[in-house]
Amino acid sequence: MLVALVGIGKIALDQHVPAIAGSPDWELAATVSRHGSVEGVEAWDDFTAMLEARPDIRVVSLCLPPVPRFAYAAEAIRAGRHVMLEKPPGATLSECHALQDMAREMRVSLFATWHSREADKVDAARGWLSDKTLRRLTVTWKEDVRRWHPGQAWIWEPGGLGVFDPGINALSIVTKILPKPIHLSGAVLKFPENRQTPIAADLAFAHPDGAEVTADFDWRQEGDQIWTIEAETEAGTLVLSDGGARMTVDGAEAGTEEDAPLSGEYPRLYAAMARLVRDGASDVDLAPMRHVADAFTLGRREIVAPFEE
Ligand code: NAP
Repeated sequence: MLVALVGIGKIALDQHVPAIAGSPDWELAATVSRHGSVEGVEAWDDFTAMLEARPDIRVVSLCLPPVPRFAYAAEAIRAGRHVMLEKPPGATLSECHALQDMAREMRVSLFATWHSREADKVDAARGWLSDKTLRRLTVTWKEDVRRWHPGQAWIWEPGGLGVFDPGINALSIVTKILPKPIHLSGAVLKFPENRQTPIAADLAFAHPDGAEVTADFDWRQEGDQIWTIEAETEAGTLVLSDGGARMTVDGAEAGTEEDAPLSGEYPRLYAAMARLVRDGASDVDLAPMRHVADAFTLGRREIVAPFEE
């Protein structure tokens, strides 16, 4: 299948281009970007012109930041194209619902991707937790924003999500591995006094069985980076670390190779998109984004030291 990649920035070059190149399902037929391009691939800077000139490209993969993404997605769907969205699927929940309605009407596939759900041990963790009684779940997602988002002004602007840009990855895993749904019960959001989005957040969730569920997101972490989810159950403690790449149960390595066919998060996403297009289906799960929206609705705001790059 031919695919056009839109927004040639960090994630497009780091992950999408190699995943497409390594896939038997896909061929990168065009890029659309104001500044970026991929060597040897037809490059456009005008999305409308590309859609008109290349009716043979049936699939568009959008790697833009969340705020500009809706207009591109809506235009692609109206032009009858199948659309793959980077995470988070939009700047607001309403935008995402509107895209779902449009995709249904136009009979095209819409895929709201959550790359962290494709990390190696996430399916194994889901399987292990499926018949356990949860007592406590603790998310610790602490990374250095200067290391992972250098020069990205949009993450500090409204709709850029701040620390929820990585934090939503943790929530995408939690909402996949927990057998029972949770909802936010309280939050503290820490905004640098010179920024529009939080640099840290503490979240608490209500669980139907009363398990204690919390998340600690922080972008001020220097040294070791921590992307860990710890789930304490009546039958032992599962720890998913390195963003879902490693799993232990009571300290012993767990999860087998068979739990994770294909290699890598983005190859799995593109394989899933190929299946959705073939099946005429869509996959839009907004649960991770709902929790983030709830945190902005319910969160207590604290002002912390200004952030300078
Ligand atoms: P980025 O490099 O800052 O932006 C991607 C590209 O989008 C830019 O190079 C730019 O290309 C285009 N763009 C930016 N603002 C635009 C606007 N207002 N209108 C039109 N085009 C615009 O961001 P990124 O890190 O790749 O992240 C993009 C998305 O991927 C985000 O939603 C992020 O959460 C997600 N993601 C990122 C990572 C990561 O490690 N960085 C990992 C997983 C997912 P042109 O200037 O050439 O048009």
